[in-house]
Amino acid sequence: MTSHTSATAAIDPVKLDRLAEVAVKVGLDLQPGQDLVLTAPISALALVRRIAEHAYKAGAGLVTPIFSDDELTLARYRHAPDASFDRAEGWLYEGMAKAYAGNAARLAVRGDNPMLLAGEDPAKVSRANRATSTAYRPALEKITGFDINWNIVAFPTPAWAALVFPSEPEDIAVAKLADAIFAASRVDREDPVTAWKEHNAALARRTAWLNGKAFHALRFRGPGTDLTVGLADGHKWNGGAEMAKNGITCNPNIPTEEVFTTPHASRVEGHVTSTKPLSYQGTLIDQISVRFEGGRIVEASAARGADVLNKVLDTDEGARRLGEVALVPHSSPISQSGLLFYNTLFDENAASHIALGQCYSTCFADSNLSPLEVASRGGNCSLIHIDWMIGSGQIDIDGLDKDGNAEPVMRQGEWA
Ligand code: ZN
Ligand code: ZN
Repeated sequence: MTSHTSATAAIDPVKLDRLAEVAVKVGLDLQPGQDLVLTAPISALALVRRIAEHAYKAGAGLVTPIFSDDELTLARYRHAPDASFDRAEGWLYEGMAKAYAGNAARLAVRGDNPMLLAGEDPAKVSRANRATSTAYRPALEKITGFDINWNIVAFPTPAWAALVFPSEPEDIAVAKLADAIFAASRVDREDPVTAWKEHNAALARRTAWLNGKAFHALRFRGPGTDLTVGLADGHKWNGGAEMAKNGITCNPNIPTEEVFTTPHASRVEGHVTSTKPLSYQGTLIDQISVRFEGGRIVEASAARGADVLNKVLDTDEGARRLGEVALVPHSSPISQSGLLFYNTLFDENAASHIALGQCYSTCFADSNLSPLEVASRGGNCSLIHIDWMIGSGQIDIDGLDKDGNAEPVMRQGEWA
């Protein structure tokens, strides 16, 4: 049992308010008259209320929260009939898709217990995920296609804090996780909005350099890794603030340290070993080691969570291929914190990474490509998108041109 009120009292209210302000002004750049669809764990209510306040002050038309609750999720796994696990709230996701089609913005607050489903039947978990992924697709396409401004921020819930700081009492763990979130989200500064402008400018310089180079492939080398990742034809590097198709420039992830693009789904060769554990739907998958041939994973193992990894890889044809490659320097503040957050929003910003599954159609120089055009340029298609970390202070990365000539991109985890 957790007492949310007392744990929330351990969170600095000034910084929490700044996080809400940054989510609305930097994360979304919410426009007057724009509606906002918000999803959050119910234990993040304190942040959700502040976000709603800042949203309405910015001129929001309607702010609609949709809450989840850990106990309620567990009740389904313990007591729902078997057929429940092949179902999802299609009507809700269709409604979300309709809201986005009407230019509503989207904000997700993360903070759910990453290990919530660790003790539940993996077959049920995977059936439920599959049903949700399928039902969610119409709404997700509007997000991955960047039709609208969207943002993810995090809230230090007691269950999450207990996982990151297992030896601390609840209020101390929550306060420590809050500080880590605030620092990574740059709201520990007096003027976080200006700090984000400077950070976005630095990321824009990296993407401009990489886009100028237009590498044919990247080669990662280090302990347990020699991987060549072909880049999609006409790929574009993104990072930091980006303009959505509705013309609004937003920061989809807070925090963010990565620059990322779309790999070529059939031009990935070699082997790669993960450098951090992957927390996936309640299972920790550790020491992942895979081999690619012609873009497809042909061998996969993990020291821990191998069953779950193999189930994920069997989701669909695209689940064995890459949909994202991202570069993050080892000196990034999240990496330097040394914490494992058990949360992709943070952990993916601690190291260079690759993602299995769906690509971002926005990572192409030509905007508004159809799904067929994305595929013809090498963009991958899947129900899943799962990031895992392959960067560390021991990884060297080269950019390769069509003839295989190499140019240093990163050395020992830092920009060359
Ligand atoms: Zn990423
Ligand atoms: Zn990703």
